[in-house]
Amino acid sequence: MTAKIIDGKAIAAELRARVAGEVARVKRDHNWLPGLAVVLVGNDPASEVYVRSKHKQTQDAGMASFEYKLPENVSQDDLLALIARLNRDETVHGILVQLPLPKHLHTETVIGAIDPAKDVDGLHPSNAGRLAGGFAALSPCTPLGCIILSKSVHASLEGMNAIVIGRSNLVGRPLLQLLLNENATVTIAHSRSRDLPELVRRADLVYAAVGKPEMVRGDWIKPGATVIDVGINRLPMSEGKTKLVGDVAFAEASQVAGAITPVPGGVGQMTVACLLLNTLRAACAIAGLPKPAV
Ligand code: NAP
Repeated sequence: MTAKIIDGKAIAAELRARVAGEVARVKRDHNWLPGLAVVLVGNDPASEVYVRSKHKQTQDAGMASFEYKLPENVSQDDLLALIARLNRDETVHGILVQLPLPKHLHTETVIGAIDPAKDVDGLHPSNAGRLAGGFAALSPCTPLGCIILSKSVHASLEGMNAIVIGRSNLVGRPLLQLLLNENATVTIAHSRSRDLPELVRRADLVYAAVGKPEMVRGDWIKPGATVIDVGINRLPMSEGKTKLVGDVAFAEASQVAGAITPVPGGVGQMTVACLLLNTLRAACAIAGLPKPAV
């Protein structure tokens, strides 16, 4: 069997276009724009690339984009003061603090200072708790993207056996909750799980969010399963070059799976598109408008 390749690039482009359409409608009907503020502390090159891409895609979707670059040695008080200002700013509907933060800053306190209504990364304990309780919440963008990709293959995930490998607050745990909301039967695995290959062999839906290059092998995959690879690992190559690979051994798994996401070109593409979707949803909720039809 050769798997269908799930085209994250095309699905993300379609989602961005639908968000842009709704933004244009909000602007036309209500004469205001959803706005996203991104806060970057320090000069980490990978974070700078992500922030530039978020800025461009936000503007391309027709939203207002605000960028705040703070020095590496900014004090926690100054960062919290900026967040408090953005919480009050009526032109800002989404606030994202780019992670990871420098070590002297307390990530939990910083994320906890964001108004949950503007927490478009879905990491505030209030949103995490609401999601865990099955209530409406802003959900983290990468897991949201995983669900959209899965539903591009299966109209419904109801009753399917899913395994999520990884239990981080950013990916694994919220993905578990989103899958439960879709009525999937979910197993969550982590570094202490026993006999991972056997657990994976039972799953119709496999989500790998580990951060270990090509850890999930082809002979772990149930024939016909859908494989969503969240991992982004940079492998050193010759002449100082690097190659991006996922957490799944793509060449092997694509011979067995029914559908699979590539790396790059899979989940990574969805994360920013879902950030735009969350910003639009947050803006409509703050303005008291109905949930956008995206
Ligand atoms: P993380 O916080 O480091 O969490 C990794 C998880 O994997 C942990 O729960 C860990 O278990 C588990 N794990 C480690 N070794 C394992 C093993 N041998 N068997 C089973 N589970 C194991 O990482 P993360 O932030 O969730 O990110 C995971 C991957 O996704 C990374 O490659 C990251 O770059 C990528 N990512 C991609 C996007 C995107 O937009 N595509 C977004 C976010 C992250 P314990 O809890 O027991 O330690």
